[in-house]
Amino acid sequence: MTIYITKNRFITFAVFQKYMPEYPSLIKSKLPKVGTTIFTVMSQLANENNAINLSQGFPDFESSPELIGLVNEAMKNGHNQYAPMAGILPLREEIAKKTANLYGVDYHPESEITITAGGTQAIYTAIAAIITEGDEVIIFTPAYDCYAPAIELNGGKTVFVQMVAPEFKINWNQVKKLITQHTKMIIINTPHNPTGTILKEEDMLALEKIISNTDIVLISDEVYEHIIFDENQHQSVAKFPGLAERSFIISSFGKTFHNTGWKMGYCLAPKNLMVEFRKAHQFIVFSANTPIQYALAEYLKNENNYLSLASFYQHKRDYFVNLIKDSRFEVLPSSGTYFQLLSYSKITNKSDKDFAIELTKKHKIASIPVSVFYHKNIDEKLLRFCFAKKEETLERAAEILNKVV
Ligand code: GLN
Repeated sequence: MTIYITKNRFITFAVFQKYMPEYPSLIKSKLPKVGTTIFTVMSQLANENNAINLSQGFPDFESSPELIGLVNEAMKNGHNQYAPMAGILPLREEIAKKTANLYGVDYHPESEITITAGGTQAIYTAIAAIITEGDEVIIFTPAYDCYAPAIELNGGKTVFVQMVAPEFKINWNQVKKLITQHTKMIIINTPHNPTGTILKEEDMLALEKIISNTDIVLISDEVYEHIIFDENQHQSVAKFPGLAERSFIISSFGKTFHNTGWKMGYCLAPKNLMVEFRKAHQFIVFSANTPIQYALAEYLKNENNYLSLASFYQHKRDYFVNLIKDSRFEVLPSSGTYFQLLSYSKITNKSDKDFAIELTKKHKIASIPVSVFYHKNIDEKLLRFCFAKKEETLERAAEILNKVV
């Protein structure tokens, strides 16, 4: 039975529950405004209503049997104890090769690459390693929902810059004006969740210029680096020396190899930043899953395993968009990620949250209302749909969406 510790005594859970309302001051929430993530909420609602779940971003098809076989093999070969804190060297070496091939820059496998338990852990760890009380962190809304709580848990203050639909461009002049002596960090994300937009070379150069004479650290959330469409090139901060020298770059194997439940990712950073990252990493998670690391090290050797991803998902995007072209939803441009924003402003004036719930309960299709990615009440009548799904799922989804008038 769980024992809870209150001011000066130990009590059981049942007693804790009974008296909890009388002890409101025992725990002061560090995140008073935060509830359960929208991904959990919508996936649960989808399950309860037997709805097609295009809300939380995850594939509904299997990861490669070859990769699963490699994990089994690693387990059978006895790779079942703690991995080294920073990850097994063969995997870090493969990541170094991939990064050098794609972005023309060398990250040292021993000192500049760390394997993490997914992208979210890597992002949290980078924030925890750098941010202290009173530091300001600039993020761009709509923003992926893990940034602001991680900043606040570490005593930082989130400064929000709004990108405006439908293009969601960043106004770098506005960013420049918001930089103060307290600005410690800027978090960027490309390809961008939830909008599917990407940062261009000119964005990176603008950012490089703005922060060149500061000690601002960057987190570049690049978990969708391999899912980029229409001949666009992913602009990793790794390619920009003035950015790379101050950046934690975060990537995710779950997105790349269709196994989000394995919770595997990694972080690249110059040695001086990585030293600090690992100080936090070793006490947040210590190390990540060992057999999967061995499997990934092998699987990464075939570059086609990740280079084929862009055309694989572009086909899915085009398939989905084409199926709903005559619907009342309007398609916003998606240049990367496996998300597609749809505007429903021709259908109803309802709030996006209400409409997302209605679509799930009544029409049996779940999506994510984009307003949840803003800090204030901005409702642009946009819903995010995940197209990392089998063609038959996309067909069933389109059939529903085509009937919503
Ligand atoms: N990254 C996924 C998404 O955007 C969600 C991951 C999660 O549920 N934490 O949908």
